[in-house]
Amino acid sequence: MPSIKDIMQTMEYGPAPESNAEVKAWLSTRSAGIGHFIDGKFTSADGDLIDVVNPATEDVISRVAKGSAADVDAAVAAARAAFPKWSALPGHERAKYLYAIARHIQKRERFFSVLETMDNGKTIRETRDIDIPLVARHFYHHAGWAELVADEFPQHKPVGVCGQIIPWNFPLLMLAWKVAPALAAGNTVVLKPADLTPMTAHAFAELLVEIGLPAGVVNIVQGDGETGAAIAGHPGVDKVAFTGSTDVGRIIRRQIAGSGKKLSLELGGKSPFIVLEDADLDAAVEGVVDAIWFNQGEVCCAGSRLLVQEGVAPRFFEKLKARMATLRVGDPLDKTMDMGAVVSMKQLSRIKALLKAGEQEGATLNLAPVALPEKGAFCTPGFFTNSHPANSVSQVEIFGPVATTLTFRTLDEAVALANDTRYGLAASVWSENVNRAIELAARVKAGVVWINATNMFDAAAPFGGYRESGYGREGGRTGMLEYLTTGWDKQGKVRATSAAPIDVAPATGKADHAAIDVTAKLYIGGKQARPDGGQSYTVFGKGGAAIGEAGLANRKDVRNAVEAANKANAWGGVTAHNRAQVLYFLAENLEQRRDEFVAALAATGAVAKPEDEFEAAIRRCFWYAAQADKFDGSVTATKSQHVTMTVNEPYGTIGVVAPDEAPLLALLSLILPAVTMGNRVVAVASQAHPLIAARLYQVFETSDIPAGVVNLLTGERDVLAKTLAEHDDVAALWYCGSEDGSRMVEVASAGNLKPVWSDLGRLRDWRDTRFGQGQEYLRRASQVKTIWLPYGE
Ligand code: NAD
Repeated sequence: MPSIKDIMQTMEYGPAPESNAEVKAWLSTRSAGIGHFIDGKFTSADGDLIDVVNPATEDVISRVAKGSAADVDAAVAAARAAFPKWSALPGHERAKYLYAIARHIQKRERFFSVLETMDNGKTIRETRDIDIPLVARHFYHHAGWAELVADEFPQHKPVGVCGQIIPWNFPLLMLAWKVAPALAAGNTVVLKPADLTPMTAHAFAELLVEIGLPAGVVNIVQGDGETGAAIAGHPGVDKVAFTGSTDVGRIIRRQIAGSGKKLSLELGGKSPFIVLEDADLDAAVEGVVDAIWFNQGEVCCAGSRLLVQEGVAPRFFEKLKARMATLRVGDPLDKTMDMGAVVSMKQLSRIKALLKAGEQEGATLNLAPVALPEKGAFCTPGFFTNSHPANSVSQVEIFGPVATTLTFRTLDEAVALANDTRYGLAASVWSENVNRAIELAARVKAGVVWINATNMFDAAAPFGGYRESGYGREGGRTGMLEYLTTGWDKQGKVRATSAAPIDVAPATGKADHAAIDVTAKLYIGGKQARPDGGQSYTVFGKGGAAIGEAGLANRKDVRNAVEAANKANAWGGVTAHNRAQVLYFLAENLEQRRDEFVAALAATGAVAKPEDEFEAAIRRCFWYAAQADKFDGSVTATKSQHVTMTVNEPYGTIGVVAPDEAPLLALLSLILPAVTMGNRVVAVASQAHPLIAARLYQVFETSDIPAGVVNLLTGERDVLAKTLAEHDDVAALWYCGSEDGSRMVEVASAGNLKPVWSDLGRLRDWRDTRFGQGQEYLRRASQVKTIWLPYGE
């Protein structure tokens, strides 16, 4: 044994292993393997079992069953059966269960930490200090929401049975993020852990038995992607919550299109870590350690693209190399290790292949001079220099402990590089200048931004992505809304499916035209535009008479409108007060043309009370004008010495597709909330009653709405809707039309994973303020950005 003097001279770390004796004993009593947890009972592990491997030792520590369609059926049936009673419990009763879960997690913290480390390969330091404490925190926080849900979310009810599918990188934490809000809101659950890391979910099920959670409230079906697909597609599932890769997120989006299932997706990322030249470089270097070497880099929000301002880049990279040389990689149960094993040998080969591709593309791989254990899925940490924005390693999620680096000169360049990705999960900004840091935080397209910090999480702070990093948030008030519904948008009767005819031939019926022929056009980029295809279609009014012609927009017109909308991005930056003024002015100008609009509505033959519809339209303008500076974000209580802000940001360009009923009011009810929140809109007016749109753009033209903020198209609804749904520059889509059309746009939206709000072909009473307006519209028109700002020394 070395003497104290020897140790003081070498400063070598001694081994500090955490004992895994208890966990091994627990595993040995389950040596037949683990099955599912359905209706409060554990099934035996049978069928083709999947080996569960400790990636640090390559030992098989258990075997896990692969859930079949029959297992999924049984789990969904159990969850359905448990739902009425569980959802009817007073919130306080549900809170007691969630509180008990939190408490019991804490009492078994060490057990769960060791088991997680053995299953996943991550270090005990992280499971003990981060994963498991956050799990407990999540259940405490949601015990609170269970208690308050009736007061805080009036008119809301639980969604029903939630199918939840999670990845392997934070196995128990991802389970907590899913299960806690679902139960707090009164839902029941069928959850599938990743087949690589099933163990802590199984132990969690045992804990649920221990605390006496009613049978069927939480069901766990083990298995792989096929099992996951069976859960997502099951007709008895009302909501799908998925965390995993963007590719699988797309598959699920398409799979459940048109089903009416609520969907939240937490997907991949390639998050920028931006270091300005006025940053505290040593602090930023420590930030990189937490950004890309935390959890072996297997973190969806890892700071995997280091963007460093040119003046400090060489110094920063030198510091980073020096710091990297001190990293310790090895036995994850050793408490002195900084990094453990990646999740599997397969993942290790995947990472190595990506690194090789990076080198072949000319980037230089700087690896830490660390000795790896001979056995196990250990990966050397490092970072690329001389990488370029177009290199595969700069674009693809490596999901391993290696970052790429790029340099920039100006703030604008930093923003452009940061946003040069299809993802938008997180960003980290390092600067001692608060003005610059906040400016960057505002301009980066990401759901979470950490200023002078990275990878911070809290149950009260919403987490989730922009763009192809998915939609929906986990944590806090926003996260609760994912598990609640008012259900009003799907309550109406299904519309008659026959669409109004598109007839481009001259109408031969007796016409009743005005003295001067009126040409209804499209409205694109603030200008009246003839349809690209040079076609118009006949519009029929009261009694089936032809009352005019409307422009027949085609795909090119949609693309032009989207381009115009994208150019009008300054609208998102104008003050809420200004936006309110524009909306009031719109109401004023509409009011001046009251008689004309009422007559036009009457002429459609489709509006029972044109005066009432017009009056409601005016009021709607006022209501959204009123909301413009009131539908706010908040400051959330998370960790000490942090201000955590949630901001409601516009999406960008939103496509809206209006139904045929209420041709003025429905169209405005869709445009106004989107514009109120700072979005630009490409709107498709009623196919059957498009002439109202031609009058409306004349009002827009005179109401100080900047060119391109609202664009109006007329034509064949589903042709235009499909083009909007497929368009990568349309960030969100609201569709009112048919059931088939709803399915079609949801499938088509999977390309850039835009969130779609479709009405499944259900009629809506637009005049009723419970359905035709409200905060739901504003929520759907904005995405939450969470900004973490630490303070103090
Ligand atoms: P994955 O998408 O392959 O698997 C995730 C889960 O989905 C697993 O449980 C898997 O069995 C299941 N699955 C696979 N195919 C399925 C299908 N067709 N239908 C239903 N379920 C299916 O991802 P992974 O490799 O396990 O995890 C890594 C990915 O997860 C990374 O891309 C990472 O960025 C992402 N991730 C995101 C977050 C977030 O919050 N945004 C958090 C953690 C991980």
